[in-house]
Amino acid sequence: MYDVVIVGAGPAGISLAVEALEAGISHENLLILEKEKEHAFTIKKFYPDAKLVTANYKGMEPKCEGLLCMTDLPKSDVIDFLDRTIETYRLPVHYEEQVYTIYEDIEKECFVVKTSRASYETKIVVIAIGVLGKPKKPDYPLPSSLSERILFDVTSRAVKNEHVLIVGGGDSAAEYAQYLLQFGNTITLSYRRERFERMNLINRRTIEELERLGIITLRYNSHIRGVEDKEGKPLVHFEEPPTPVIFDRVVYALGGSSPKNFLESIGIAFDGPQPIVNEHGETSIPGIFLVGDLVHYPKGGSIITAFNSARRAMEAICSRYLHCTLRKEG
Ligand SMILES: Cc1cc2nc3c(=O)[nH]c(=O)nc-3n(C[C@H](O)[C@H](O)[C@H](O)COP(=O)(O)OP(=O)(O)OC[C@H]3O[C@@H](n4cnc5c(N)ncnc54)[C@H](O)[C@@H]3O)c2cc1C
Repeated sequence: MYDVVIVGAGPAGISLAVEALEAGISHENLLILEKEKEHAFTIKKFYPDAKLVTANYKGMEPKCEGLLCMTDLPKSDVIDFLDRTIETYRLPVHYEEQVYTIYEDIEKECFVVKTSRASYETKIVVIAIGVLGKPKKPDYPLPSSLSERILFDVTSRAVKNEHVLIVGGGDSAAEYAQYLLQFGNTITLSYRRERFERMNLINRRTIEELERLGIITLRYNSHIRGVEDKEGKPLVHFEEPPTPVIFDRVVYALGGSSPKNFLESIGIAFDGPQPIVNEHGETSIPGIFLVGDLVHYPKGGSIITAFNSARRAMEAICSRYLHCTLRKEG
């Protein structure tokens, strides 16, 4: 029987494990389950390589409450920091082990966490799976023959000297555009609204300046009706002229859909699109906590808010369940 099983080894899961170990939970009583081969998969997969990871993301105050903290750093340094954290604390992570469901064993008074490989019994479950597990897809169907040409990130394929359409209007769309420009690509950005409202100021200014200089093409108020396979390339039908247009690639940056089905199948209550949690991230099922991006759905959070949510969850886990004492920060 574990004390705490953490689902997901991103910033939130890693910081929860650090807080737990520092509060006196032993390595033997703690387990992290990660579905991918490596930790922090979201950062590795979705961030462009040269990205500066900002502590103040989406205007969220970069004030650290717990043991883990970060300043503005290049992507590689953030990954190094998390690598070192896992190594220094000898975090017990099982990789390539996806959690499929979680249920309560009333008789044994514990939760059972079922994965692709095994079942684990635990007193507390902390779900730290983020919101980006499944990228949001458009409403129209995408031809399966174009799976190499239609992407949902910019790191899974090398894209060079191509004519690329990016669909989306948030920070990811802006950062994908800046990243792909470095490799000789010609960028068109399609956004359904008349101006960028979701981008941070730096990204918005950069994108607008790139358009002013004629380096990228912005299509505001742009609606796509469908995508067709035209001799192996995406032929994109817009509602507005010019249409249709052939691209070498289309990259969707529409954000992530909440793993609502997963949480609901566990029995966690929702209020509209949001899972109901208290200030410690505890769900409608006492003993099951949400941390990281899941707590901030649908806006999504930042790395520091993920660290902080882990601290807040651990406060309640210690005081209400495991009778441990949190280590003071610094
Ligand atoms: C393009 C982009 C740029 C960003 N830039 C910044 C920035 O500059 N600064 C900043 O602070 N934040 C930034 N963010 C936000 C930041 O990445 C997130 O807030 C942070 O990663 C959330 O951490 P998390 O641990 O909650 O979730 P995640 O980082 O998403 O980690 C979740 C982990 O859970 C694993 N997992 C998922 N499902 C399962 C399952 N069923 N079983 C087991 N494991 C599972 C995943 O593989 C993953 O490793 C950016 C996000 C994106 C997409």
